[in-house]
Amino acid sequence: MSDETTPICSAKGCRTPAVWVLAWNNPKVHTPERRKTWIACDEHREHLSQFLGVRNFLKDVVPLTEWEAPEGSGRP
Ligand SMILES: [Zn+2]
Repeated sequence: MSDETTPICSAKGCRTPAVWVLAWNNPKVHTPERRKTWIACDEHREHLSQFLGVRNFLKDVVPLTEWEAPEGSGRP
């Protein structure tokens, strides 16, 4: 599958199709139930998780195939 809607990993410079969704929340900026999402390939899942984890922002890591984005999220 390589249609042009394939989501690409959020890591800087990475062009690999993403397979993970990292759901996070910055309590200083977001209300508690708000979720921001990053998507990651296998290689960058750990790196991005740690980045969010050390800041206590990370809420969830879910396979992209199982992720159901809440309405109105994820698009700038
Ligand atoms: Zn990547």
